[in-house]
Amino acid sequence: MKETDVLLVGFGFSAIPLLRELDLSGVNYTIISEKDGSIWASLARSGGLDFDLVSSYYTSFYTFDLVDDFSQDHYPTAREFYDMHLRYYRKYQDRITVDRVTLIENKTDHSIVHTKSGDRLKAKHVVISTAFRRRMNDALVTFDCSIRNKTVVIDSIGDSANLLISKLVTGDNRIICLQNGFLPLDKLFYIGDTAYSLDQLEAHQTARSFPRLYGAVINFNFVPMTKVLPNLKPIAAYMALVRWIQHVMGRIFTPENFHVRFADTRRGIEADRPPKAHVPNGIIAIKYWPIDAYVRQFSEDLPERIKQGFLLNDLVYFVSEGLVALWEKDKTKVDEIGKTVECNGESVHYDYLIQGDAEVPRLPRITYEKAGRTVDYEYVYRENYLGVIPSVLTNVYLLGYTRPLTGGLSNITEMQSLLIHRMLTDEPFRSGITDRLDEKIKVYNRRYYVTETPRPRDHLTYYGFYTDEVARELGINPSLKSCRSFRDVAKYLCYPNNADKFRQTGPYKIEKCAEFVDHVFTEHKGFTFVWQLAFAYLGYQLLAVAVAASLFLHGWINGYALAAVVVFQLLFGYWAMIPVTNSCPFFGVKFVSFVSYIPMLFHPVSALLIFPVDFLVTYVLRQRPEARYPFNDLKNKKNYREFYEQYKEVYNRVRRPAVLQAAGGD
Ligand SMILES: Cc1cc2nc3c(=O)[nH]c(=O)nc-3n(C[C@H](O)[C@H](O)[C@H](O)COP(=O)(O)OP(=O)(O)OC[C@H]3O[C@@H](n4cnc5c(N)ncnc54)[C@H](O)[C@@H]3O)c2cc1C
Repeated sequence: MKETDVLLVGFGFSAIPLLRELDLSGVNYTIISEKDGSIWASLARSGGLDFDLVSSYYTSFYTFDLVDDFSQDHYPTAREFYDMHLRYYRKYQDRITVDRVTLIENKTDHSIVHTKSGDRLKAKHVVISTAFRRRMNDALVTFDCSIRNKTVVIDSIGDSANLLISKLVTGDNRIICLQNGFLPLDKLFYIGDTAYSLDQLEAHQTARSFPRLYGAVINFNFVPMTKVLPNLKPIAAYMALVRWIQHVMGRIFTPENFHVRFADTRRGIEADRPPKAHVPNGIIAIKYWPIDAYVRQFSEDLPERIKQGFLLNDLVYFVSEGLVALWEKDKTKVDEIGKTVECNGESVHYDYLIQGDAEVPRLPRITYEKAGRTVDYEYVYRENYLGVIPSVLTNVYLLGYTRPLTGGLSNITEMQSLLIHRMLTDEPFRSGITDRLDEKIKVYNRRYYVTETPRPRDHLTYYGFYTDEVARELGINPSLKSCRSFRDVAKYLCYPNNADKFRQTGPYKIEKCAEFVDHVFTEHKGFTFVWQLAFAYLGYQLLAVAVAASLFLHGWINGYALAAVVVFQLLFGYWAMIPVTNSCPFFGVKFVSFVSYIPMLFHPVSALLIFPVDFLVTYVLRQRPEARYPFNDLKNKKNYREFYEQYKEVYNRVRRPAVLQAAGGD
């Protein structure tokens, strides 16, 4: 029987950074992979590489490639992404044994691996990286998107469903999408001339340093991410109250927010405890081109851009224009024989039903020893530390089964690869983790899950939190102490937790990475926008207390009322994000108005006028065409109807014949 130190099962995108580290440290490894088994290979075969990514360039490619190719952030096409996979495939192809792993027998210090061709191999460590199985992938490859004037029901929501929607909608098809709540997020927006991709605007680090502030700023669009069930009654009651206040305030003050107009989409996750992390795992997000940013980026060269794959997938626009209907999935009855869907008394006959399901890892059968018996391993995401180290298996690691809610998978798999590399090469580190594995899993789960019981989407993580957790485990996260300038502090707090943040120094340092990070920081004007949001939010909090203090000092209210205002601020401080979001992006004006409020505090009458004046200023700013919530703003959407008609005409001209060909039509 052949032997190897490390066996990698499945060669694909996720494996690339691990192989690089193994090569650098001279570890002996073997790769067994089925040929052309990835979704990207299937898409390439079916002519389906005709879209652009939902994650930006900086978060879709690996740090070791980015540092050689400093450029502006942008959204790469599927073709560019797949070309990168192929480049690496060519690099490693001589080392790949083409075969299918059918069984892994995990023993106390090694595994026996069986393959379809009948080979057996003894491996000290096994890394499994075989991607997911899911129905939506089949639909992406086989569904004929050239159909016109049909009724299509899509029974799930996510980026892939939205990709199908973006193709079907141009054929005047009636689309009904069944969903249980999701979070749509603009892929790009502008502040002045600076374009921010979604992935670069998350300041995850702030969540550790200023959790309350982060919680408020990240919840700027009043989408409570969780619905707490009342088994912890006082907390549940408090959160229900916050939720209700947010809802009422949202209706009054942010009526153009998508989730306010389409309240069914804000259901979030039912929880049996409040979230410790502000963004718990398991949230479905859809990343779309908002039509205004799309026009700015692509309208000059529309036919070419559509051909390249830059598709308008503004679900928020489609829904607000009635082009896509969102139905509540758990209230909808689907009759597959009669081909009808029914919800809230409305029944519709459909032509096509596209079914989705939860992603499940394509793991080969794995067995292990338990109480002297050989049993089958059952995969549960939560029972693996950081989604990588299974609690019941020995020297087996899982790579690529953790997905990002926003941002690219590359950040996650790059960090997972570093973790696995360290587990393979540093015995004290490995035993430090395995000795306390159950405890570590418990602490992680308590922080990132709001339910006791596992759920099918537990593997959807907020990439910035996830990469930070891995970096902390590896001891490669930057610290405040290591900052040497204000710029360093700003980077520490505001630079997104992309893998490059953790590879500037230390054992996994990459040459030129610090320069790359600095380049990204400069490109985004030092992420000033994050500071502006945070300062404006704090400004409002202070202003409310200052007005109350002024009234108190002038004897207009007593100490109890002042204390009540302070307590209210502590408990319900989130209210301040309403004026903050509504005055976006006029933070300069906001700053000036805050300065002018200071003298008004000296007299109780003018102090009382501060909020009405501010309300008026904010209202006036909101009427300006540039005024825009950072995400899901419906205010200006209808101005783009003419553009949409033009887009549809161009799409049908340049893409429909191609789609027909790919689908085997004439
Ligand atoms: C439509 C679509 C859009 C996406 N957009 C983005 C995006 O914008 N940004 C982003 O970051 N990610 C995106 N993703 C997700 C993700 O980047 C990819 O799917 C990624 O390529 C997964 O890499 P992987 O290495 O885990 O799997 P793969 O690249 O699929 O590799 C798995 C390999 O394992 C092999 N294999 C499977 N089973 C066995 C076995 N039993 N024995 C041996 N070999 C086996 C397969 O043949 C394959 O070669 C998208 C995915 C889809 C489907």
